[in-house]
Amino acid sequence: MPAGVFLLQTFLEECYNFNIRLLPIKNWAFDRSFLDLILKHIARKDFGLRDIFKISFLKPKRKFRLFQVEPTMDCNLKCCMCPWMNLRRPGSKMDWKIFEAAARYFRLAEEVDLTGGGEPLLHPRLEEMVRSAKSAGCVVGFSTNATLLFPEQTQIFLDAGIDWIAYSVDGATPETYERIRGGASFEKVMKNICGVQQLKERRGSIKPRTMLFFVMMKENVHELPAMVRLAKCMGIDQIVAKNLDVILKEGDDERRIFRNSGEGEVDSSVSMAVAEAREVARDLKILLRVYELTPVEKPICEQSPLKSLFVAWDGSVSPCINLSYIQDRCFGGKWQRFPIVRFGNVATEPLEVIWKKTEYRSFRKLLQNRGEGGSANFTESLLPDLSPYSERRCSSSPPPGCGVCYYLYGV
Ligand code: SF4
Repeated sequence: MPAGVFLLQTFLEECYNFNIRLLPIKNWAFDRSFLDLILKHIARKDFGLRDIFKISFLKPKRKFRLFQVEPTMDCNLKCCMCPWMNLRRPGSKMDWKIFEAAARYFRLAEEVDLTGGGEPLLHPRLEEMVRSAKSAGCVVGFSTNATLLFPEQTQIFLDAGIDWIAYSVDGATPETYERIRGGASFEKVMKNICGVQQLKERRGSIKPRTMLFFVMMKENVHELPAMVRLAKCMGIDQIVAKNLDVILKEGDDERRIFRNSGEGEVDSSVSMAVAEAREVARDLKILLRVYELTPVEKPICEQSPLKSLFVAWDGSVSPCINLSYIQDRCFGGKWQRFPIVRFGNVATEPLEVIWKKTEYRSFRKLLQNRGEGGSANFTESLLPDLSPYSERRCSSSPPPGCGVCYYLYGV
């Protein structure tokens, strides 16, 4: 095979593995070291013929873009803005039989996100979950507070073939971080995150792709530019600056920095911090996505419930984590109550039966009437300016619950 074709195919394969789009993206920053690493792999003959044939355009598209499977609702921290804190019950870990019932369908999904309302690393069989998703041919990853991501753990997950890890870090200084993430040590978390990077370098591996999730609030948004610099120093691939978009506790509405429709301008100090962070990211060539600060209704949220679903730790199936748990929430400055939406349980019913139930179909129909789903997968949707629904118009009412969910408004 000519060397040029080999190189191109290998490059496409890596793009697929890391959810990197080959289309032009605004604010796109391409790191030269990525190409260097691929060349290094080729020189070391890490890629065989079998790998070459796994290139992205030869892969069949699967029925589901994403299965989000919740290993546990338990958590070892008490973060000030955590929406799930009051919903936790001791011992809420996914039973292995329930996991196996869900895993039977992984071959239908492109990606498995092992994240829910708790800390995934508290599940004793998380590594097996990763392996199970990999053996089904899925891209797999999880979000973690990184407090338990010790070097031995990291080694295990890298061996299991994990594709991405997202760290939740909401402060660039120990003071801010530890005030927000109750019970965590900034120093230890930084050490753990650097440990992942060191291990990747030792192995000459560009996997797992690493992301840093920063929840922007009044108490920390001024540290976003510093967070971008720190993330770059630690070798993180991408930063996602999210909003406090699920407000379930008294007092949390005062923390949010985005405006509700009808409110005045976004605070100038917030706009300045975001603008500076974008500039720093451009200069340092690190990907940064900042969620919108002004809500604009989309036909369908980025969770994309037409092609994804959420399996809670007890096996119940919902279109998303919000509908699985949330009854009372603050939206637009007012408290609202909506039914919890669960369409069945994988422990007692086959997933295809749940998916085809009349009430689940009606739910999807309401969204379908508002606009078809986009093509970006879960991790692609976190890249800058890649929201697949941003330009479409909404022509009918959303399902109950979605209308008062900030995800539908892109913030
Ligand atoms: S809009 Fe909110 S509640 Fe509705 S599916 Fe999306 S994330 Fe779930």
